[in-house]
Order: sequence, then C-alpha cells, then structure tokens
Amino acid sequence: MTDLTTPPAAVLLPAVRDFLSRPRQLFIGGKWIDAVAGETFETRDPATGEVLTTVARGRAADVDRAVAAARRAYEGEWSLWTPAQRQRLLYRVGEALYSRAEEFAQLESLDNGKPATVAQAVDVTWSAELFLYYAGWATKIEGSTVTPSVPWAPGARFHAYTLREPVGVVGAIVPWNFPLVMAAFKVPVALATGNTVILKPAEQTPLTALLLAEVLAEAGLPDGVFNVVTGYGDAGAAIAGHDDVDKVAFTGSTEVGKLIVDAAKGNLKKVSLELGGKSPQVVYADADLEAAIPGTASGFLFNQGQTCTAGTRILVEDRIFDEFTQGVAEVAKATRLGPGLDPATEMGPLVSEEQFARVSGYISQGLQDGARALTGGGRHGDRGYFIEPTVLVDVDSSFSVYREEIFGPVVVATPFNAAAGVRSAANDTPYGLAASVWTSNLSKAHRTAAEIKAGTVWINCHNAFDCAIPFGGYKQSGWGRELGAAAIEEFTQIKAVNILL
Ligand code: NAP
Ligand code: MG
Repeated sequence: MTDLTTPPAAVLLPAVRDFLSRPRQLFIGGKWIDAVAGETFETRDPATGEVLTTVARGRAADVDRAVAAARRAYEGEWSLWTPAQRQRLLYRVGEALYSRAEEFAQLESLDNGKPATVAQAVDVTWSAELFLYYAGWATKIEGSTVTPSVPWAPGARFHAYTLREPVGVVGAIVPWNFPLVMAAFKVPVALATGNTVILKPAEQTPLTALLLAEVLAEAGLPDGVFNVVTGYGDAGAAIAGHDDVDKVAFTGSTEVGKLIVDAAKGNLKKVSLELGGKSPQVVYADADLEAAIPGTASGFLFNQGQTCTAGTRILVEDRIFDEFTQGVAEVAKATRLGPGLDPATEMGPLVSEEQFARVSGYISQGLQDGARALTGGGRHGDRGYFIEPTVLVDVDSSFSVYREEIFGPVVVATPFNAAAGVRSAANDTPYGLAASVWTSNLSKAHRTAAEIKAGTVWINCHNAFDCAIPFGGYKQSGWGRELGAAAIEEFTQIKAVNILL
C-alpha cells in the first residue's frame, strides 16, 4: 500500500472546476431552481473530507413540483414522440457521455472516492453503453396478436392485440456506490419506453446526476421529462409515497427497500427493487488458481468493496483452503490505496465517514468474535476514509461479519468439503443477488450454478455484467429485473385490445 498523496489541482479539468465553483440546484421542468425552503447541503471528497460544493436540499414540496412537471411532460409533447425520435435522443446522450467521459469520471471520483481511471473505464463507459443499448430498444418494443375463442359467444369473431405502453411517471431512487451507473440502469430504459422520470441521487453523491441532467437537456429532451431532486432520505420517501408517481425503481439497502414497499401502498404504484447481498464465491480445488486468486480478490475489493454483488463470502474447498486464502491475502495486501484522482490508485477511500465507521465497527466485532485477519483489519493513513483490504478466516457462520452486508473491502473465507457439498453454505443468507463458481470442471460448474439461489451466477469470473444480461435478486435481494429485455417489461404495462369483428 502506498502513502496518500494529494493530486495536483492542475489534474482537474476546467469544466470540473467550473462545475464545482457554484452551488448546484435542483433540475425541475427543464429549469435549475433552488429548493422551495431554500435549504442546501454539502457534498464532500471522501479522500480528504473537504467540501466539494453545496447542493440544494429538496424535500416533499420540491418532489411535488417535480412530479407535477413530470406529469405535465408525460401528457404533453413527449407522448407524441415517435420511437425513432426517442432512439435518436438516447443515442446522442450515449455519445455525449463518451465525449465528456473524463469530466464525468473526475466528478464521480471526487464525490464517491473511486479511482478516476475506474470511473472512466467502468462507470462512464457502462452508463454510455446503457444509453446506446436502450436507444436501440426504443424502436423494437412490440406487442402481440391473439386470436380469441370466447366460448360463450359462438359464431362471433374477434381480433385481439396487445400494446406495451409506458407506466407513466417514474421515481428513480439510487445509492452512492455507482451513482451514474445506477441512474443509467433506470433512466435510459425509462425514456426508451416513453416514461418521464424524477431521479433522486444519494445524498453522498449527487453530482453526476446533475451533470447528466445537463447532458439530457442539451440533447433536446423536452422540459419535465427528466428531473433531478437532490436531497436526503425524506425526499426519497416523498417520491415513494406520492400518489401521482406510477412506479418507483429503487436501488439501495434491503431495509430502505422495505420502507419503499410500505410507502407505495397508497396508490399501489409499481415497485422494482435492487437490494443488498452477501454473495458467495465458491472455489473448487480443481479451479485455475492463478486466475481464481486475483479473480476472487477483485470480486470483493472492486469499488472499495461497496458493490451490491461483492463476493464477500469466499467458500473454498478444504484441501486448498490455506494456500488459497494466503494467495487472496497477498493480492489484497498489494492493493495500492490512494485518492481517486491519483492515476496510481487502485482502491480509493470509502464514500463517507459514516460508512468508514460502519465498516470499522464490523471488522472489530469480527475480530472480537474470534475471527483472524490474514491481512488488513484497520485504517489506512490518517486522513480520509481509507480501510485496509481485509481477509478474515476462523469465521463462524453465526458471526455478524459472515451474516451481514458490510459494504467495504472485507471478505470472510470458510472451508467446505466437496463430498458434503456447498449448497447449504452458499445459500445460508437471506440475500440472493449473485454468486461466482470457480472450477475447471464443466458439469460441476453447471451443477453448482443450479444449486445457488441467486439472480446471477458467474463462472470463473465475478462482476461480469453486460447491458443485455438481466440483473436482479432472489430472496431479499429484490423484486424485478434490470438490464436487458427484462427491464423493458418492468417499465411498460400491457394493454390488451379486443375487437368484435
Ligand atoms: P440506502 O440507504 O438504502 O439509500 C438508497 C437511496 O434511498 C438513497 O438515495 C437514499 O437517500 C434513499 N432513501 C433513504 N431513505 C429512504 C426512504 N425512507 N424512502 C425512500 N428513499 C430513501 O442505500 P445506500 O446506503 O445508499 O447504498 C448501499 C446499499 O445499496 C447496500 O445495501 C447495497 O447492497 C445496495 N445496493 C444494491 C444494488 C443492487 O443493484 N442490488 C446496487 C447498489 C447498491 P439518502 O442517500 O439521502 O439517504
Ligand atoms: Mg460526496
């Protein structure tokens, strides 16, 4: 691990410096406006704890304004746009994200802490690709035709067909770990299918959502089709409980997911949820260890471990356990920690002081319970919210480090016996978001994939996402699916039309 260095201010693009030089406002009805109550909050750089800029704090009254703007837009000009017009607009946005990739990446890195190199290669690229991918879908949304029989109307003939129509006004509530990507899981598909959107970014990372609003407006999106309300959980709750919001697409914790379900009851709005995880990485003794050791290490370290799909329980076949976990610990220990804007940085700080305290608390509890750290276990440096990559062994399945989502660079490793099988250990959690299986035996790979109750199973890789592959959770990891064709269904509703001929 290298020491922290402060990146030279000259590294910052003038556009980013300019963006941060002013307080940021809400984006409602195509206009930048202050919150009704005039309140603001600060967003900070987690590498230093210093304030980046202030942001308007939207509350229920601001959500009301945003929902009214989104409703007007939904019923206005936007409803007359052809699929090809929506396709072209989304395509322009994808291209704009690519041409402004460095700007988005720096802003994301400053706000979230992640390395700017990763923000550009993963977050911005992925978001751009999502706009391009759903641009293509806009012109390919189809219903079907049905030939009815209607047994109680003998002799009558009917012709029936289905339409896939937008759901209406969509609230998108997203977390801080992948601020732009999580918005891009929802916004492109929502717009491709003809909905209007109110986006509520996390309080820790509001900035790229606001830059995205600028890009969408410049691309020619009509006023009110896309709105951003920055603020805290109460703004999210106002969206979830709003009677004129037709759907909430939420990514975040399981705890808040359950609150969203309660809040949605009033008007029975549609709800899709992408929630937490405690994903296993199952390693058989016949795996290619040269790939599996760094692969499983990055499976839990990627994004400072703040990834809903992080492979935070490594289950290793007993006869290679010591050798394998030692290898993972060495990779973890060699990770270069530093501020996101330093090009040498491989892992940045955690997103906030609160998250730092939470992760540190889990580690000390684990050690107190009797776990042993093969590497890590403490803070890195004395400034910012850096945590050492931590590999824990001697962990019992009753420990909180084994059971609960930590959302930091912390993994627990436990052995399993191949004859007894790995099914019960792999599924020993209320979550079911993702898993990976590392083996060179094809039938073992398929068999284990079938045994694991999770929405995604990767074989010999982890976190290998694609725009076209559906993503979502089993059990308490969520409702519905994002990405791919599956998301088109989540953002549309079917109308059946039956005609008596
Ligand atoms: P969080 O606390 O659940 O917050 C997520 C979003 O919900 C934030 O915008 C938050 O606003 C807002 N919110 C808070 N209270 C609310 C309420 N009562 N009603 C409506 N919205 C409310 O999650 P987080 O701490 O930001 O993110 C970490 C969690 O997200 C982890 O559990 C992780 O597993 C999960 N996650 C899941 C996925 C996935 O795809 N499955 C992806 C990424 C993250 P504030 O920020 O202002 O509190
Ligand atoms: Mg911040």
